[in-house]
Amino acid sequence: MDFSDRIQRVEPSATLAISNLASELEAEGADVVDLSVGEPDFPTPENIVEAGQEAMDAGHTGYTSSNGIAELKAAIAEKLQGDGLDHEAENVIVTPGAKQALYEAIQTLVDDGDEVVLLDPAWVSYEAMVKLAGGDLNRVDLAPHDFQLEPALEELGEAISDETELLVVNSPSNPTGAVYSDAALEGVRDLAVEHDVTVISDEIYQQITYGEEPTSLGTFEGMADRTVTINGFSKAYSMTGWRLGYFAGPEELISQAGKLHSHSVSCATNFVQHAGVEALRNTDEAVEEMVEAFAERREFLLDRLGEEGVEAPEPDGAFYLMMPVADDDQTWCEEALEEAHVATVPGSAFGAPGYARISYANSKERIGEAVDRLVDADLL
Ligand code: PMP
Repeated sequence: MDFSDRIQRVEPSATLAISNLASELEAEGADVVDLSVGEPDFPTPENIVEAGQEAMDAGHTGYTSSNGIAELKAAIAEKLQGDGLDHEAENVIVTPGAKQALYEAIQTLVDDGDEVVLLDPAWVSYEAMVKLAGGDLNRVDLAPHDFQLEPALEELGEAISDETELLVVNSPSNPTGAVYSDAALEGVRDLAVEHDVTVISDEIYQQITYGEEPTSLGTFEGMADRTVTINGFSKAYSMTGWRLGYFAGPEELISQAGKLHSHSVSCATNFVQHAGVEALRNTDEAVEEMVEAFAERREFLLDRLGEEGVEAPEPDGAFYLMMPVADDDQTWCEEALEEAHVATVPGSAFGAPGYARISYANSKERIGEAVDRLVDADLL
């Protein structure tokens, strides 16, 4: 077969090697502490599950209108208005997961040879999505600034020019947990306006924060017409397998992207969209409880690492922490898995060599066990 240039531009996920190895070890009977996962370890809140079941029983099993059911688009618009964004239901497309929202937005905005700026370390799929669209990447490294954006604004200013088509901002960030300050976002705004750049603001971890609340980028003056806001239900509502997300932006973008949406996925799953309405309208308490649990685990992990003399930049959001390891982080992660049976993701997978990404979406008991094992194996 003759494969497309497009598909040959992208590599399989660099995290696969570690997860394959972890599965092999588990198949041999090893007890692996998995700190590599990118999903909450809680069940989906009961009221959401019930709403999904009721919707199925009520016969909501056919196609919906392509951009999503009216009730969900209205609930999303209301949520976005609560964040200070001036969006109505017409500004929203509901997708099977935020990943599809990002994919559609990038396909809609990026042409062959267009320059796209990413902030490193960056979630792995941005690069692949940009390459699939034919874009060229220009990366700004936040690692020397403890993963914060504000002290890197000068470098960002050097990276962004009139040639830049798109900038992707993800706060709270996967993999660093960094929440960018308002001053940093104002700096982004100034550059975006000066060079007429469109910005994707991936806010999927927005509700999972520990003090620093991120401001939605599209609310800054001058950003409403150039921001695509991405969000979803996977993380805040522990709904990864339901596949539900959305993007919102100016009507013109929605009408262009809507073509790709209708010709690819048609629509998000009908009864899942009904469950999404319940999630947005009636689940604040359950979200608070999950965030509290993440906060406790974060404290616990930071304390345990501190006791072992490991100084990791403190994350203000999401459920990840970037732990400084050896220069060769890939080998460190392999050794952690083989010798200590602890699974983590090498920082180099995200463009941050020398670190391992630890997900603390796990019980304190297991997190403590992981740290003990790494110490026993002389890896910390
Ligand atoms: N953006 C970021 C930064 C993520 O970490 C993820 C999930 N790992 C997504 C988007 C996609 O989430 P989903 O497709 O499950 O909504």
